[in-house]
Amino acid sequence: MIQWTAEQLDAFVQLLHDEAYEVLGPVIRDGAVTYGAMQALPVGYGDEQAAGHYRLTQRGDQTRFGYNLGPSTWKQFLFPPSETLFSVRDDLIHPVENQPGKRAFIGVRACEMAAIEVQDRVFLQGEYTERRYEQRRQQVFIVAVNCSQAAATCFCTANDDGPAVRGSADMVLTEVNPQQPWYLVEAISETAKKLVAKIGGAPANDEQHHQAQAAVNEAAEQISRQLPRKGLRDALFDALEHPQWDDVASRCLSCGNCTQVCPTCFCSTTQEQTDLVSMEVRHQRLWDSCFTEMHSYTTGGAIHHKTRSRYRQWLTHKLAAWEDQFDVSGCTGCGRCISWCPVGIDLTEEVEILRKSP
Ligand code: SF4
Ligand code: SF4
Repeated sequence: MIQWTAEQLDAFVQLLHDEAYEVLGPVIRDGAVTYGAMQALPVGYGDEQAAGHYRLTQRGDQTRFGYNLGPSTWKQFLFPPSETLFSVRDDLIHPVENQPGKRAFIGVRACEMAAIEVQDRVFLQGEYTERRYEQRRQQVFIVAVNCSQAAATCFCTANDDGPAVRGSADMVLTEVNPQQPWYLVEAISETAKKLVAKIGGAPANDEQHHQAQAAVNEAAEQISRQLPRKGLRDALFDALEHPQWDDVASRCLSCGNCTQVCPTCFCSTTQEQTDLVSMEVRHQRLWDSCFTEMHSYTTGGAIHHKTRSRYRQWLTHKLAAWEDQFDVSGCTGCGRCISWCPVGIDLTEEVEILRKSP
């Protein structure tokens, strides 16, 4: 592993631009750290989070990765919120081709890397695979970052999904020393090794390895929320008639925010959009949410009429049935659904109550 200065990291971001990558990473927008097309890494931003609460803060230091997770996820680039799959014109079907270019994701955290791998299982494994997701996924170069701090809403340690990156990133950075940051750089893929060699950097010594590990350990120690996974699947299936579902339904607005900010939720719907000028009909796929009534529509009508059954569907799918389907939990502990729930519902608290007999 090598060590970079902040200037070398900034030069690496520029190199990705020069190498014709579409560079996607942290962008300060609407009072939050979001993900989008970026020219340079924002400096010195942090955040303050709690149930139903997010505030962007100025840290007063030189960190490039001093923030935790905001409302946007990498999912939007691999599985877009809205896309046209084909159109119909002159009685003929016209496929809409998906032609993704090279993309670099900068600043993917451990729980986000785990979430990308969850979606890889959903879309790429088994008999039916999602071709458009696959085409995009193959074009992505991932620069992951080990967390050096945690938000009050984080619980990645519950499933061993963080704060150290364990997934298949192209390279992993650790940011050390906020006032004058430097970076421990691990280039993993061949592409990463070639790109990193163009920037250079001194080999990291034992003391620097030790400092980087201490920064990640500190993030782990800051995590206070728990979601014990042992026996969770069975406990939730045994609690289908627990009175807590009524309690949470009395607070839940069925707004679907939790599903929109979740990096693993993958439900979608389709609609036809008619253009009377071009006389074309576009067949579109849109993100859906199990908190809408029509999400549960089958031939005879909707099943989940009430918020109680929608929340139960969401939580039991995410933390129990997901394991049966994909052999992995649907939650990587990012905490977004806690921060961005307008009424501050916290799934870790709900699970703790649901595990106990009424
Ligand atoms: S369920 Fe909540 S904490 Fe878990 S991955 Fe989704 S948004 Fe993150
Ligand atoms: S749990 Fe919160 S974010 Fe999710 S649907 Fe209910 S009110 Fe909205």
